[in-house]
Order: sequence, then structure tokens, then C-alpha cells
Amino acid sequence: MDDFTLDPFSSPDDDRFHEECGVFGIFGAKNAAALAALGLHALQHRGQEAAGITSFDGREFHSERHIGLVGDNFSKPNVISRLPGDWAIGHTRYSTTGGSGLRNVQPLYAELAIGGFALAHNGNLTNAMTIQRELQRRGAIFQSTSDTETILHLVATSQRAALVDKIVDALKSIEGAYSLVCLSQEKMIGCRDPHGIRPLIMGDLDGAVVLASETCALDIIGARFVREIEPGEMVVISNRGVDSLRPFDKRPSRFCIFEYVYFARPDSVYGGTSVYQVRKRIGAELARESHAEADVVIPVPDSGTPAAIGFAEASGIPFDFGIIRNHYVGRTFISPTDSIRHMGVKLKHNANRTVIEGKRIVLVDDSIVRGTTSLKIVQMMREAGAAEVHMRIASPPTTDSCFYGVDTPEKGKLLASRMTIDEMARYIQVDSLAFLSIDGLYRAVGEMARDNDNPQYCDACFTGQYPTALIDAYSSGPVRQLSAVGDGT
Ligand code: AMP
Repeated sequence: MDDFTLDPFSSPDDDRFHEECGVFGIFGAKNAAALAALGLHALQHRGQEAAGITSFDGREFHSERHIGLVGDNFSKPNVISRLPGDWAIGHTRYSTTGGSGLRNVQPLYAELAIGGFALAHNGNLTNAMTIQRELQRRGAIFQSTSDTETILHLVATSQRAALVDKIVDALKSIEGAYSLVCLSQEKMIGCRDPHGIRPLIMGDLDGAVVLASETCALDIIGARFVREIEPGEMVVISNRGVDSLRPFDKRPSRFCIFEYVYFARPDSVYGGTSVYQVRKRIGAELARESHAEADVVIPVPDSGTPAAIGFAEASGIPFDFGIIRNHYVGRTFISPTDSIRHMGVKLKHNANRTVIEGKRIVLVDDSIVRGTTSLKIVQMMREAGAAEVHMRIASPPTTDSCFYGVDTPEKGKLLASRMTIDEMARYIQVDSLAFLSIDGLYRAVGEMARDNDNPQYCDACFTGQYPTALIDAYSSGPVRQLSAVGDGT
């Protein structure tokens, strides 16, 4: 879910919400809300700004939504006791600014004509603003600035009789990325957009059905992985069991490749493939593609660590921890302005001088977005006495904004959209700079090569080839469409 006032082309600065999210649901378990809190805690990396849980006790819905970390808000017994019932869904949200606070915190809830309905959304819609304008023109009142509320309105106003049909009806009008977990007084429903851009998996905990963004949320409660929800699939979970529906026209699968690069937790598994192993393979590909004569491979922790291990193994250059990360500060991106963001990097990382001094180092990070982190870290390595700094990036240059729920600044602020690799190398002051090739990335996720006519993943942040129409964004800038998909642009 994302604030749909976000416009990566025209936003002057990051003074608005940019969100990345995790979703969780559990149906048929004692202490459902406590289990949901644990699941959300495992998904905390997907969103640190706010979290919420809605439960149903057979009679009533109960909801707790809080700004802040899951552990700070949902570890207290009195909060969990206000969430009775065997069914619960939850959401954790990431935002770069405090913004409009609680009203955007999910799950969103509405009393529909057919009963209560709660909704948690990971992803970002690309036509929500357009639909919202039309709904407002017809008199609809919006309570939040979230694109997810558009789904709620479309469900509420659908003329179909049954809830599942109303949801299908609503989703047929929307474009973009959505992994949804919904709760009614009869059912829990999970759904993935037709391209399956964001993840959603199903697990089992002693007969209770679990839905979650990542497998690490199953591990924490001891649930068994059952399967992924397929792109375009809707699962309807009720006391009668699990039904699977395919309500949408089939579209090519386009799972977000950046989940493998950065976003997911390394101990999660997508499509049978361990995120950690992919990251190590990325490092190995990078070493093969862009060798450096160096004494030691240093990760930018934590996101660069698995790739650095893979790089060290493949190159034969020893791995060491030359940067120590302070774990008590949030992600660099959490700071709303550039000046504070610079400070954030200093707060977060420190050089481990004994490993660096006098050495030719290979510095491995997962991505360069604005270049803020790289600039500071390289400076830090020089100050710690590095003889040479060779930067290796475990993804292709990030040239384009994400419209599907990963926080990226507008295109003009992406270093790689403004500079060549040589210019970037000069800007961050390294002796050499290399990025993984797009084919190298595809090899690391297990493909022979990228199919350029019909890519196996959504890699728009690296290629500008967006798998869906970007209806809201068209008003403010040109966006290259993936013509092979032809899905109604
Ligand atoms: P920057 O300093 O703007 O170049 O950001 C690059 C750093 O931010 C890298 O070290 C990444 O680990 C991290 N990063 C990349 N993408 C994201 C994202 N969407 N949200 C938060 N952090 C990110």
C-alpha cells in the first residue's frame, strides 16, 4: 500500500509517504492476534513506521493500529487481550515520514452493507488516484490518503451480492501491485495481482491457515510452509476449508526481482529459492563479471553481506567485517531530508579500522539509490586508511522509480538516472565501480538469461520496463511501457 499522492516524477522531495509493507493473516487459531503480532514482528523489515491487527471473535471485529514498531506496541498483554478471536489479519508499514499518521495505518476497516470488512495491502496501485477522483466526483468520502482505501470503496459500491464477487469486481478495476489479506465475518481472503508482483504465501499451523508476505513469518510461529499464492489467484478460507479462484485474465508472472536483491529477509524462501542463496550467487556473478585486485572483501552491512560472502568465495579474496553496523537505528531511508539522511549513515555504520588500514578493499553493497550511503561509506573507508576502494554493487544501476510499493525516490534523484557509471565512480570517489549486469542478476535467480521480450520478473527499477499501465503517473511524465504485455495501457 502506498500513499497515492506519491508521484515519483514530480515530487520535489521526500516529504510524503513512501511505503513498503508486510501482510499477515491467520484463520482458526487460539490467540490469533498474538500469533499475528509475532508474524508481523518477523516482517518488521518490510515496514517500520506503523503496524495494525484486526481480529474477529465470531461476533465483533476488534482493531489496534499503532505508529511504531510491532514489538513496542503489540508485545503488551493488554493490547493483545483487546484483540480476541481465532481469526486475525495484520499489516506492517514503512514510511519515510511521519505524515498523516494513524488514519493510514492498516488494516483498514469498513462496515459494508453485508457486514464488517478489514483489508491489509502490500503493493501499490497505479490507477488509484484516477479512480479516487471519479469516486469523489460521485460523492465518495475518503478517510485516508492511502490507495488501499480505493479498494475498500470499490468493494463497498460493487453491485455484486456476495463478498467474494464484490472483491473480484473491485480488483478488476485496479492496476498495479497488490498482495491482499482480507477478513470478513465468515472468511479470510488472500489475493495476488495478476502479475504476482508482490509476494504472498500460505502456511499451516496445526490446521490453522496462515497467509504472509514471507516465509520468515511462518518460521517464527512454527507454521509449515504450504505453497505460494499464485499470481492472479484468490484463496477463500472459511470453516469449510480453502477454495482457490482464478478470477482474472491470465497475465505473465512478474515477481519483483528487488525482493531478492534487497527487500526480503535473507532467511525467506520465494518460489523454492532461498533469498540468501540468491544473494550469494549474485556476489559470485559480480566477482566473475567485475574482478578487482584487492586484499579484502568488505560488506556494507547488513544488506551487502550475503553478496560479499559470494564475491569472496568466487574471487578467492578473503572476506572480513570492515564496517560495523549499529542495529539500534532504522534504515537510512527513514530520514525525511537529505541532510538528516547523511547523518543517518554516520549513525548507522562505523569503520573497523584494523581490517581496513593499508588494504585494497572491495566494498560490496546491494544497490545505489541516491548515492548517499556509498559516498559516506567510501569517505569512512579512506579515513580508516584504505589504500584503494573498489565498489561492487549487487544489482544493476537503479535507473527508474518503483510504482509497485518499494520506496524509491523520483527518477531525477536516482544517481544512476543522472550519471554514467564513470561519473558515479568519480562522485562517490572510488578507484573503481561496477554493477551486476541484468543477465547476471537473472542467472543468480536461476534463469538462463533475461527474456527481453517477456521478462520473467518485474525489473522496472533497473530497466524502466513496467509490467502494468502507470495510469496515475502519465499525467506527470513519460514512462516506457512493456509493449509485450499489452495489458490495457
Ligand atoms: P542511497 O544512500 O540512497 O544510495 O541508498 C542506498 C542504500 O539504501 C543501500 O545500501 C541499500 O541497502 C538501501 N536501500 C536500497 N533500496 C532501499 C529501499 N527501497 N528502502 C530502504 N533502503 C533501501
